[in-house]
Amino acid sequence: PEPILEVRDLTVHFYTYAGIVKAIERVSFDVYRGETFALVGETGCGKSVTSRALTQLIESPGRIVEGQVLYHREDGSTVDLLKLSEEEIRDVRGKEIAYIFQDPHASLDPLYTVGYQIAEAMVVHNTVKDWKEGFRKAVDILRRVLIPDPESRVKNYPHELSGGMKQRVVIGTGVSNNPKILIADEPTTALDVTVQAQILDLMNKLKEEYNTTVILITHNMGVVAEMADRVAVMYAGKIVEIGSVDQIFKNPLHPYTQGLLRAVPNPMAKIERLETIPGTVPNLIEPPSGCRFHPRCPRVMGICKEKVPELKEMEPGHFVACHLY
Ligand code: SF4
Ligand code: MG
Repeated sequence: PEPILEVRDLTVHFYTYAGIVKAIERVSFDVYRGETFALVGETGCGKSVTSRALTQLIESPGRIVEGQVLYHREDGSTVDLLKLSEEEIRDVRGKEIAYIFQDPHASLDPLYTVGYQIAEAMVVHNTVKDWKEGFRKAVDILRRVLIPDPESRVKNYPHELSGGMKQRVVIGTGVSNNPKILIADEPTTALDVTVQAQILDLMNKLKEEYNTTVILITHNMGVVAEMADRVAVMYAGKIVEIGSVDQIFKNPLHPYTQGLLRAVPNPMAKIERLETIPGTVPNLIEPPSGCRFHPRCPRVMGICKEKVPELKEMEPGHFVACHLY
């Protein structure tokens, strides 16, 4: 497999009055072209921060303090996305790398029609020659995301659509420029269960059609099982395990991953929460020493409080950061 992204030592800190929040520390992973790569973990583990940092989408008081995000284009060229200027990265974002966020209500502007908003996504990146072409393409896009009667829906305002339809519009906006990478942050969490399944199906269909690489951010192991090829498990701002879906579900190595999977008796049920692991997510101003999971780990040893475990490859493609190995 050929990487489209190589993320190395990505570190983001938030400079708050209470202290420096070490939101993510030296996060490294590869994403392969054409795959669905899931970043999974509890709320606050740093998965959203990681996904946003990939295109410098970190707002003050946050700052990317270290790292590289090497993006390999199809023409063979490579850029470090963290080195691009504000203007250059803004052009990459939305065009080559697009985001879908959790809440479709917040992603759409109530003052403009959905057609206008989809057309605008193309106009600002010059992927259409004018607004007229943008509006015409918006109708096609609504059809592609399976919105019935797209010719009239294109003139609707967001409040005239259901939550599921709004998220389809958001996805349509996301894929309007045929991005190479689509980053979807909890794309179905705000929706009811039946609509969630439809949206996941739609994302899979679009990915097949366009061969888009997908980075899926989720707290839901059922969604991972259904959608992903590979998974990175995050805990307290660090990646603790990476592997294929098979490796992670059949042979989870990290005690945290094992806990996550125990918390989900049926990973396909899609309704579980991850809060069943005892203890609370640590404060990232003063994270636990050594392994950040040690205060909650059922298998903690002396060394765990002293030394930060590094990711080690245990079988081809299966990495774990834990002193048990
Ligand atoms: Fe548990 Fe130690 Fe492994 Fe951390 S390094 S997960 S504390 S056994
Ligand atoms: Mg989040």
